[in-house]
Amino acid sequence: MVGVEVTWESPVTAVGGKHAAKLARLPGIATVGDLVGTYPKQHVQKGSLSQLDELTAGDLVSFVGEVASARQFSYQDKRTRRTAYRLEVRVRAEDGALLMTYFDKAKHVADWRLQTELPVGRVGVFSGRLKWFRDEWQLTNPASRLYEEGDDAVDTMPDLIPIYSSIGGITTWQLEETIELALTLLDRVPEVLPPAVVEARDLLPTRQALRWIHRPDTRAQKAMAEKRLKYDEAFVAQCVLARRRLLVEGTVANPRPGRPGGLLDAFDARLPFALTEGQVRVGEEIAEELGRDHPMQRLLQGEVGSGKTVVSLRAMLQVVDSGGQAALLAPTEVLAQQHQRSVERMLGELAQGGMLGGSEHGTRVALLTGSLGAAARRTALAAAAGGEAGIVIGTHALLEDRVQFADLGLVVVDEQHRFGVEQRSALGAKAGTPPHVLVMTATPIPRTVAMTVFGDLDTSTLFELPAGRGEVQTTVVPIKARAAWLERAWQRVREEVAAGHQAYVVASRIDPGDDEVAAAEPVDATGEAPRVLYAVDELAPELAEGALAGLRVEVLHGRMLPEDKDRVMSAFAAGEVDVLVSTTVIEVGVDVPNATVMVILDADRFGVSQLHQLRGRIGRGGHAGLCLLVTGADPLGPSMERLLAVAGTRDGFELSRIDMEQRREGNVLGTQQSGGRAGGLKLLSVLRDEAVIADAREAAFEVLRADPALVGSPDLAAAVRRLEDSEQAEYLEMT
Ligand code: ADP
Ligand code: MG
Repeated sequence: MVGVEVTWESPVTAVGGKHAAKLARLPGIATVGDLVGTYPKQHVQKGSLSQLDELTAGDLVSFVGEVASARQFSYQDKRTRRTAYRLEVRVRAEDGALLMTYFDKAKHVADWRLQTELPVGRVGVFSGRLKWFRDEWQLTNPASRLYEEGDDAVDTMPDLIPIYSSIGGITTWQLEETIELALTLLDRVPEVLPPAVVEARDLLPTRQALRWIHRPDTRAQKAMAEKRLKYDEAFVAQCVLARRRLLVEGTVANPRPGRPGGLLDAFDARLPFALTEGQVRVGEEIAEELGRDHPMQRLLQGEVGSGKTVVSLRAMLQVVDSGGQAALLAPTEVLAQQHQRSVERMLGELAQGGMLGGSEHGTRVALLTGSLGAAARRTALAAAAGGEAGIVIGTHALLEDRVQFADLGLVVVDEQHRFGVEQRSALGAKAGTPPHVLVMTATPIPRTVAMTVFGDLDTSTLFELPAGRGEVQTTVVPIKARAAWLERAWQRVREEVAAGHQAYVVASRIDPGDDEVAAAEPVDATGEAPRVLYAVDELAPELAEGALAGLRVEVLHGRMLPEDKDRVMSAFAAGEVDVLVSTTVIEVGVDVPNATVMVILDADRFGVSQLHQLRGRIGRGGHAGLCLLVTGADPLGPSMERLLAVAGTRDGFELSRIDMEQRREGNVLGTQQSGGRAGGLKLLSVLRDEAVIADAREAAFEVLRADPALVGSPDLAAAVRRLEDSEQAEYLEMT
C-alpha cells in the first residue's frame, strides 16, 4: 500500500479505520489535530469486582467480564407512553458478578442494537457508574466493548482505561481506537514551544505527552502529559494576546493630553468632594496614557460605588479639552439615561456649552438610545456629527451606522461583559484613528482571569470606597424555616421609610406566568411541589395594599416602555417613590444614595455576583444599609451555602471567585461558548493555574519580541493562527 502522509492538518478521514468517516461529520473534529486533541475525560483503573465493597454509588467502575445471562423486558414509558425495552445482562468476572441494565431510549439506540446481540459467553469491557437499585449494585447503560473470538485486546488492555465523552453516537472505544491509529500514523507532531522553554521546565516532548494523555501506564505519566499540554495551551493563548498587545503598541492614536485651564480643571474645581487616593492614582495613569500617541486599552475595575464613573468622566473631559469627543456605552437604556442625568448634574453649567448662561469652556452631553423620538434623535445625531456634543452617551443605538462623530477620541464601555467584541470594534471604526478605550467593570476579575481573558488590556483597580459610605449588613431570611420572618422584613422596610429613606424590593420574575423563568425551574429532587416564585406585577399591588400599605410603591422592569422606566427611575431618584419593586434592571450602576434597604425575594435564584451587585445599590449615601436575602429554598441545601457566602463577605474578589467556581469556567464572563471552555482551553484552568499562565505569558512576550512574525517558529505560528481564527478567539478578545 502506498502510504498517504498523515499530518496534523490532514482531514480526519486520512486516518482511515472504521470510524473516521463518522467522526469527520462531528462538529469540532475536522483535522487529525482536532482528533488527537480530544482528550479522555478521565481514566479508570481496570478493576476487579472484589473492590465493590469499597465503592459507593456514583463511582465509576470498569472491568472485564463474561456475559452470564441476558433478559429483555418491555414496559410502558411514563413520559412518552410508548413501549420501551430494558435489557438486563449479568456479567461475571473472576471474582464476582454485576448487573448491567440497558434502557432503549432514543439516544442509546446505537448501543441497543449492539446489546441485543450480547450472547451468553461473550467477553467484553464494561464501564459505567455504580448504582444501588433493587438491593443490588448495577450499572445503567454502561459503555461496553465486546471482543471477538481470539481477540487479544483483552490481554493488551491497559490498567488505566481512557474514557471519552461519547459524542454523536461514537463510543469511547471507537474514539480510542481511532485516536490510537492516528497517533501511530502521524509522522510529525507540531512542537509549539521553543526548545529552551521545554528544557528549562522539564516538559515532555509533545508526541510523548499526547500518547500519555490518552493511554498512560501510570497516573504519574498522565500528570506529566497534562503538565506539558497545559503549558502549550497557556503559551499559545498568551501568544495571541501578546501579539495583539504588541500590535496596539505599534498603532498610532491621536494624543489627547488635555489643556490647563480647560473643562477638566473647571470640573475639578466644582467637585463637591475630594477624590479618593485610588481615584487620583488611576486618574493619573489614564491621563498620562491619553496623552500618548498609542491607543490606551485599559480595564478599570472597582466595586459598585467605588467611583469609576467620576474617573471616566474626568478622562472624557480631558479628551474634550484636547478637541476630541468621548462616547460612553451603557448596557441598558435605564443606565444610559442615568449616566446622562448624573453626568449633567456633575457638570452643571459646564454641560451648557454654547447656550445662554453656559460656561465658556462648556460642552454638551447628547443621549442616543433606541427609544428616542425622531426629533430628539435628529438633534442628538447632529450634535455628535457636528462635534457640539463633547460627550455622547448611549446604548447599542450608538453602534448604528448612521451615528457619526466629528472626532471620536475616547470610548468608555461601562460594564464590559454585556458587550461583545464586534460592538466595541464597531464603535472604534467610527473614529478616524483608533480611539483610546476604557472598559469599566464592577465584577472584580481575578488576576489569572484578567491575564488570560484581558491579557491585552492594562488593568487599574479602585480598591477603596469613597469615605462616608455606610456599612451594608446582609442577612439571609429563610422563610421555609420561619414564614413569619418575611413579615419582619416588610416591617424593616416600613421603619426605613419612616426614617425618611427608600427601599428596593427585587423579584426574579415580571409576571407570574413568566415562561422563560419557569422553564429554568429545577425539578425538585425531594419531590415537593415547585415553589411559586415572586413576580413584580403581582407583588407590587399586594404590598401596596397589604404589608406596605400607605407607602408609595412603584414598579420597574425591562418590559416597560422606556419612557415609563425613565419616569419611574427619575421619581425614585427624586424621592417621590418610597419602594421600588423591580427585577434586576436595577442591577448595574443605579445610584440613589437615599435608598437604604433592599429585600431580594427568591434570592436563591440569583448568582453570587449578581446578588453582590444588587446590594451595591444601597448604603451609598453614607447611611448604613440593610440587605435581606429572602429564600424559600431548603435551609440545608446547596443554595443556602451561596447565600451565606454573600452574607458573610463584602469582598467582591472573593465572591467573584466563588461565582466562577460554581459556573462553568468557559462561562466566566457570561459568553455563550460553543466549545464549552475559554479560548480553546481544555486542560488549563484560568482560576487554578495561575503560575503556569504567568510563566507562559513571560515566555510568550520573550518569543514575540524577538520574532514578531514567528518566522522562526512555524508550528507555533500555525497554532496561534488557528486560535485566532477559531470562534473562540472572540472570547479572548471580548472586552
Ligand atoms: P461606580 O461607577 O464605581 O459604581 P460612581 O462613580 O457612580 O461609582 O460613584 C458612586 C457615588 O459616590 C456617586 O454618588 C459619586 O458621586 C460618589 N463619589 C464618587 N467619588 C467620590 C469621592 N471621592 N468622595 C465621595 N463621593 C464620591
Ligand atoms: Mg457606575
